[in-house]
Amino acid sequence: MAATAANIVEDPHAGATPAFSSADAAELVERLRASFNAGKTRPLAWRREQLKAVRRLLTKNARPLAAALAEDLGKPEFEAHTTDVAFPISEASIALKNLQRWTRPEKAALPAVQRPAKAYTVFEPLGVVLVIAPWNYPVQLVFNPLVAAIAAGNCAIVKPSELTPKTSALIAKLIREYLDGDCIAVVEGAVDETTALLEQRFDHIFYTGNGRVARVVMEAAAKHLTPTTLELGGKSPCVVAADADLATAARRIAWGKFTNAGQTCTAPDYVLVERAAAAELTEKLAATITEFYGADPKASPDFARIVSRRHAERLAAMLDDGATKAAGGDVDLDERYVAPTLLTDVSTDSKVMDEEIFGPILPILAVDDLDEAIDTINRGDKPLALYVFGADKARCDRVLASTSSGGACVNATLWHVANPNLPFGGVGESGMGAYHGRYGFERLSHRKAVTEKPTRMDPKVGYPPYSRIKLWLAKRFM
Ligand code: NAD
Repeated sequence: MAATAANIVEDPHAGATPAFSSADAAELVERLRASFNAGKTRPLAWRREQLKAVRRLLTKNARPLAAALAEDLGKPEFEAHTTDVAFPISEASIALKNLQRWTRPEKAALPAVQRPAKAYTVFEPLGVVLVIAPWNYPVQLVFNPLVAAIAAGNCAIVKPSELTPKTSALIAKLIREYLDGDCIAVVEGAVDETTALLEQRFDHIFYTGNGRVARVVMEAAAKHLTPTTLELGGKSPCVVAADADLATAARRIAWGKFTNAGQTCTAPDYVLVERAAAAELTEKLAATITEFYGADPKASPDFARIVSRRHAERLAAMLDDGATKAAGGDVDLDERYVAPTLLTDVSTDSKVMDEEIFGPILPILAVDDLDEAIDTINRGDKPLALYVFGADKARCDRVLASTSSGGACVNATLWHVANPNLPFGGVGESGMGAYHGRYGFERLSHRKAVTEKPTRMDPKVGYPPYSRIKLWLAKRFM
């Protein structure tokens, strides 16, 4: 298992009596299952009404949500809106617009021997879905899966992250206020509460977070044969060819890396740059940091804070591992501040190259050529995202074709995640299953195969007693 940034166990409730026991969890799931079995969530009218309520919840409370995000993560309001709150508003709108089309039965071709008949597939809801969300985009990562669950006609329980307590409390209050409590519930808490939930039988578990907990989730799911979607992280590489437009590359890499102080699952984790361009790229990245956040990023209202002191300490330890600080390097643990930092002369076996950084530290490694970059990437786990910058399309395509990643961008970072027409998910160690837009609806539905036959004709050729002529016909036509 690859180390991920979040392999830190932080449980503010550790040792306390759980407020939400296994019996509470069982009762809650049973109550929601009763609503599901009564058919409450199936009608498109219910789904539409709830999707509109999600949209209302988010648009009417955008400011309080941004304020909670500022308290928990020091998130600038611009980032709170663009990367957290606006996302699920758009997901809900897309689902509302397309629900009729998505839920329409899809005709399938019919083998000649089955005629006359009609074959089609239809999406049916799964039942009760559990959504477990992390702290880095605590609004988006609760509501995007919830929108998919509602669009697909499911009941859902959401469990926001305890590491962003203000946002978790507000989300819980708003969900109770705006959404149908017979079908959608929220449970706040940490390991104890999540463990109580995971003991229950769900019809799907949608987990976003780190690989260590993903294994706990999958093990619990296996007991009930519950399918899971695991949205995980890892070290997403950023390859820069010597012929890249370095000024644009620097801006786009810095934006992808330092948004939310690097606490983004798809942030470029490290840079592999062709040696001829390494010094110039480093210079341009340093200049971009000053352009974005001024000479003192700590004073910038546009630069977020690290979620907890322990995560800040984890990042500080990465700065003391022998690399050269080409920019930044300051840490203030009391303020949970880690400066946007560039590291050069990085050893491949240093801490910063061993685990997902998940913070504003960018190691820049020079490579002889793209083959060396490809080899370096393929020695590690399959990442969630891969970015390649270069002017020669064929060389960029070769990097994509020789590596595997959940998603990718050419001459850009992060944008593929923000397109609801693209599936978002990992591969291998970075996760399983994808969502967003139609992909989310499909992920939380079951595609049922149906054959309908008329009764007016029923040739006996396929029924016993069999005969040589029947066998001859079967061999001929099947
Ligand atoms: P986290 O610590 O908030 O944990 C995620 C959820 O798991 C929380 O709700 C938490 O309560 C629960 N949890 C923690 N320990 C548990 C246990 N022992 N048993 C059951 N549940 C438990 O968030 P995190 O894991 O630190 O999140 C950061 C990680 O998530 C990074 O690796 C990042 O790359 C990844 N991530 C992935 C995506 C994606 O969409 N692929 C998005 C965001 C973050």
